[in-house]
Amino acid sequence: MNCCIRGAVTVEENSRECIWENTKLMLNEIINANNINIEDIVSIYFTCTRDLDAAYPAVAAREIGIVDAALMCVQELYVKGSLEMCVRAAVNIETYKRQKDMKHIYLKGAQRLRPDIVNKSKIDAVAIDGPAGSGKSTVAKLISKELGYIYVDTGAMYRTVGLCCLNKGISLDDNEKIKEVLPYVDISLEFDKGIQKIFLNGRDVTDEIRTQPVAEAASKVAAIPEVRTQLVEIQRKIAEKNKVVMDGRDIGTNVLKNAKTKIYLDADVSERAKRRCNELDEKGITFDYDNIVKEIVERDNYDKNREVNPLAAAKDAVVIDTTGLTIEQVKDKIMSVVRD
Ligand code: C5P
Repeated sequence: MNCCIRGAVTVEENSRECIWENTKLMLNEIINANNINIEDIVSIYFTCTRDLDAAYPAVAAREIGIVDAALMCVQELYVKGSLEMCVRAAVNIETYKRQKDMKHIYLKGAQRLRPDIVNKSKIDAVAIDGPAGSGKSTVAKLISKELGYIYVDTGAMYRTVGLCCLNKGISLDDNEKIKEVLPYVDISLEFDKGIQKIFLNGRDVTDEIRTQPVAEAASKVAAIPEVRTQLVEIQRKIAEKNKVVMDGRDIGTNVLKNAKTKIYLDADVSERAKRRCNELDEKGITFDYDNIVKEIVERDNYDKNREVNPLAAAKDAVVIDTTGLTIEQVKDKIMSVVRD
């Protein structure tokens, strides 16, 4: 099957080096995020905005070893108010995957096509999505502090509904019982120096929800549409009244579709498991590495394959693979997207 991945990057100046370096960056991100073998690349169409003519971006493709693919470069028509100094690419590959699974890459603010139109309806929010252990919450806290926004952890809300079901002895496969209990689940949030505390019917459960059984319960209840409707309403209300950094699984695709910045964080399963083990180690909790990997893979599958608002990168999200990166490096990458 043939699939096509879109990529775009802005460049700082109209020079050969800058065009080639940024094009390489974009191509490498496309290759890494989609796990592509270079031999599977069939062709790449590059376009440049009218203000870039110092070099053909295609040279960058050859330099990173894409030797067999057919390449083409053209200059774009000028659209008033559109993004300037931008290289775009459409990378065609042979793959067994489906087009909907392709991860498109927009770097350095290049997701904006017509800022004059797009920005009017955007809200001051940073939406961060990604699978368990991708580093969302740690980095979201740092970003919120730097921007002076509040940090909203939506996973904590699904965990709280999960905890409530566990406490009441409700089977997590009994969707009807879970729906019946929903009107009695009163979730409230407080923000202390920008950091969230969560209350279930007035009781602080911020720490209690941080266990593995609660995480699994959260994933189960999160697949029920009525649960999502109730929690998404709370999340949108918070974002209406505050500037937020909000993390979760469907923030960019559903809750805050109009967020100015959308980020999707990902990392290898083994790296995510190691991070989880370190966290448990710091808390003095014993663990089994293989079990942690199993739990992460199971939860990812459940979150990615549910029918309502599955875990996915929004089309206009900037995808960052955090494998091998420090939290500071991830923070810097996100901040450069925010600033752009
Ligand atoms: O992020 P965290 O691990 O706390 O999330 C717990 C669970 O809540 C996730 O595995 C996912 O099933 C669910 N969730 C969700 N949508 C969100 C946030 C979390 O479905 N926006």
